[in-house]
Amino acid sequence: MNKINKVLIANRGEIALRILRACKELSIKTVAVYSTADKDLKHVRLADEAVCIGPHPSADSYLNIPALISAAEVTHADAIHPGYGFLSESADFAQRVEESGFIFIGPRAENIRVMGDKVAAIEAMQSSGVPCVPGSDGGLGTDDKQNIATANKIGFPIIIKASGGGGGRGMQVVEKESDLLAAIELAKTEGQSFFGNPEVYMEKFLTTPRHVEIQILADEHGNVVHLGERDCSMQRRHQKVVEEAPAPGVTPELRHKIGSVCTDACKAINYRGAGTFEFLFENNAFYFIEMNTRVQVEHPVTEMITGVDIVREQILIADGQKLSLTQEAVKIKGFSIECRINAEDPNNFMPSPGKITQFHAAGGLGVRVDSHVYNGYSVPPHYDSMIGKLITFADTRLGAIIKMQNALDEMVIDGIKTNIPLQARIMADETFRKGGMNIHYLEKMLGESH
Ligand code: ADP
Repeated sequence: MNKINKVLIANRGEIALRILRACKELSIKTVAVYSTADKDLKHVRLADEAVCIGPHPSADSYLNIPALISAAEVTHADAIHPGYGFLSESADFAQRVEESGFIFIGPRAENIRVMGDKVAAIEAMQSSGVPCVPGSDGGLGTDDKQNIATANKIGFPIIIKASGGGGGRGMQVVEKESDLLAAIELAKTEGQSFFGNPEVYMEKFLTTPRHVEIQILADEHGNVVHLGERDCSMQRRHQKVVEEAPAPGVTPELRHKIGSVCTDACKAINYRGAGTFEFLFENNAFYFIEMNTRVQVEHPVTEMITGVDIVREQILIADGQKLSLTQEAVKIKGFSIECRINAEDPNNFMPSPGKITQFHAAGGLGVRVDSHVYNGYSVPPHYDSMIGKLITFADTRLGAIIKMQNALDEMVIDGIKTNIPLQARIMADETFRKGGMNIHYLEKMLGESH
């Protein structure tokens, strides 16, 4: 390594463990930070050093920038990895990290800032030649008549989205003109209260799209590669439940075409790090919706079919090294599926924190478990309910599904409720097995669509 000898992991749960593993393989020392509710996290025990950064509310610990920077200072870390969620897409955090003399394992603050503002992101993408959803050019003004005219020009149904939005929040679908103005007001209020930004914009609401996203890696020397696509259409309330790679029906030609659009855009905006271009995919056409400037929950399915360790590459890029592979060297082989395992009631989706009294991981060829939980671990009630990810890999898509069914059968998590029964139901579903479902399919399957 050139510059990075010790990494502070500014996150918790499975991704903190994932980062720790990548650091250990690179012989980099690790610093875990944790809230008082998280002292028993697996990576806290495995890290070279661990620092308690505050009480359980995220605002006082995982989102507490001064506490994180102080922890990096006292432990003499060189770099900070933000994981996903928490501060991973905070341009202010990236800037403060660098201003304090540490390396931020992620994109430049200015890239994060542009992509965190969806209106600015769409503008940047449009001018880099990335296809976007037809919509309002920029944020909506306060002129009601103008907004009604814009909606009619796009054509109902439309979706109002908060410019600062994320995690599926701050979005309103509008079917008809009479509902428009109230929906705009609601989206503005949500944007302000969740994200501190009342700006909203309008897009055509695509009725049967799939969610297909492209993973890219860019170094600071101008080299950019894409690692193909993932299909994340199995969603409930805009939250991904199952992800897979490659996406059914995406041909090598189509992959090459959209992948090149993304790598060109990265060059145009001088992007650095790992990133994901999220698209809606309908009638074989891609429509950009947003770019995620961080590692994603579903990155393992891409790792399985390309053999590229995305977190390792993030660290090497931050260390100033050149990408270890060229586009020609990226080969896609096999099929991978990921099931998110959540501590929640599979029937009503209520979180189910508590002590895990029995834990048996699944295993075998082509089965990967990315999880921080273990026998006797207590899932705290304060954070996201995802407690791990089950990932399978096989020569065929059906093979990966069957492996997943077996893995779900093998996995034992007692003491709390999990969504394993729901995932088993999805794996057995005829339509899922055919592949290529649209983003509404899961809710339809669950009888929740309206
Ligand atoms: P977030 O940042 O909150 O995740 P996204 O813009 O990525 O928001 O959208 C999340 C999800 O909302 C998408 O995966 C898709 O299911 C749905 N969605 C967003 N925009 C549209 C659209 N124009 N038409 C139909 N569905 C959409």
